[in-house]
Amino acid sequence: MSTLAAVYQLQILSRQSGRFPKLKISQIFGPTVQGEGSAAGRHCLFVRLFGCNQVCFWCDTPYTWAVTDETAARTRSGQRYDRDDPAYGLKPMSATEVLDELKALWDIENRPTIIVISGGEPMMQQRELVPLLEQLRAWGHEVHIETAGTIAPLPELDALVTQYNVSPKLGTSGNRLATRYKPEVLTALRDTGKAWFKFVATEDWEPDLAEVDQMVTDVALAPQRVMVMPEGSDSKTNVATAQKVVDATLERGYGLSFRTHVLLWNDDPDR
Ligand code: SF4
Repeated sequence: MSTLAAVYQLQILSRQSGRFPKLKISQIFGPTVQGEGSAAGRHCLFVRLFGCNQVCFWCDTPYTWAVTDETAARTRSGQRYDRDDPAYGLKPMSATEVLDELKALWDIENRPTIIVISGGEPMMQQRELVPLLEQLRAWGHEVHIETAGTIAPLPELDALVTQYNVSPKLGTSGNRLATRYKPEVLTALRDTGKAWFKFVATEDWEPDLAEVDQMVTDVALAPQRVMVMPEGSDSKTNVATAQKVVDATLERGYGLSFRTHVLLWNDDPDR
């Protein structure tokens, strides 16, 4: 190892050793396929962070945030989740602890893949993510961040990110406009050159697509970086909604993203 590489490694280890606050983790799992967006089908491991600044009605990971009566009432099921649940609840972990868990799933020191940092809303913990991402990039991994696009990336995080999968929320999510739509943040993500934008279309897709068109125009998003993703937590619904929306999607120059993990495994939270 060169002197420079050794110094770099020491810096990473010292940052992992506790001077940085721990990450709030919900789940670490894989290998699996990226289910959604432009990287759908690619081999990856998932690090799912706990906590979100949105309250989407149809959220498929409500266990990362619906832990009070008030937030549970905003979900489709109305179910309140246990923050201390050992499988899906909040686990404070250092970067080293996260890396150890990833090592148990995959030979991450020698076999680079994609590490998807998902949530919840990962951008709420972007400072804490830096030491973890430094090590993952040093081992050659791609780091993909999944975000609703309401928090702009800090330069120190952005330097470590390979791709942003940005999923701005529409009116059907049940979030207030001022909470879910931050054009200046979407512009900042667009300008990184690393962002793909993915919008959920429900069965009643026409108002959804009208809202997508408005955001695409407002933020001057390139249509070829935009994907429409049919909602559906089972394969039948996902395909049926895709068939409804596909022609209008293609006319606009947008792509279509199935929910690959749903087609394969329905709503299994561990895949
Ligand atoms: S932003 Fe994502 S994780 Fe947060 S509530 Fe909405 S769908 Fe769920």
